[in-house]
Amino acid sequence: MLFIPFLNKSENLPESAVRAVPLRIISLHAPIKMAVSTRKCPACGQWSNWSQNPDDKCEHCGSILDPQGLRARQLQEEEALRQKKNLNIALIEIYPYDSSLTRFGKRIVQGFQLTLMGIISFIIWVVTVLAG
Ligand SMILES: [Zn+2]
Repeated sequence: MLFIPFLNKSENLPESAVRAVPLRIISLHAPIKMAVSTRKCPACGQWSNWSQNPDDKCEHCGSILDPQGLRARQLQEEEALRQKKNLNIALIEIYPYDSSLTRFGKRIVQGFQLTLMGIISFIIWVVTVLAG
């Protein structure tokens, strides 16, 4: 009875297929257990549990298990921050001493720039998703 919400698409399937559903749900849990793996520590050479995370440390000596992965992630974060900063610098500034007409003009330019940034951010996001 619990599985009825999952069966919307399989109304035309024979009864044997319906009975197989609970078994399929149980088998979905198997890959989660297998996600934990081991990795050899680069500092002491012992094997430690590793959850594919660059932050994970060796159980024996406390060294980072994947220094290259951690470094790569840091570089990625720095690059993302740098790109964000560059986009902010490109935005025209409005000063308190600007006349109302100047402010109005600058607001229009800002609106245009923000639209452009949105498009650029979207392209970066698409490239990131495709590359990842
Ligand atoms: Zn170690």
